[in-house]
Amino acid sequence: MQQDCIFCKIINREIPSEVFYEDEHVLAFPDINPAAPVHILVIPKRHISNLTEIGSDDTALLGHIMTVIPKIAAKAGIAEDGFRIVINTKDNGGQTVHHLHCHLLGGRFMEWPPG
Ligand code: AMP
Ligand code: ZN
Repeated sequence: MQQDCIFCKIINREIPSEVFYEDEHVLAFPDINPAAPVHILVIPKRHISNLTEIGSDDTALLGHIMTVIPKIAAKAGIAEDGFRIVINTKDNGGQTVHHLHCHLLGGRFMEWPPG
């Protein structure tokens, strides 16, 4: 838990959110400012600032996140048509919340390249 981290506060239920999926290691909840018809954030419960802070001990955690994402996508009804996963990392990646999170985006066609 990082005291000033908004996503840690969501994990600890200090800030309300609609939990879409939860297990021992992961929480998923809707993005407050959705960029697509379905926009869910999938985060590790342990505070990790960004992808550059991942260590060799985190291999299983990242694998777990990638394993639950298609299940969350199926629950959200976007697995069949497809979806996009985005992990914005640090300033040039456009990261604004410094707790590692996967954006799960779907419900419309996603353009490429991103802006
Ligand atoms: P990023 O810009 O990749 O760091 O993404 C941070 C995301 O967190 C943005 O899409 C915000 O809309 C979202 N966000 C910020 N605060 C909240 C909140 N309290 N509940 C849900 N999503 C949030
Ligand atoms: Zn945090």
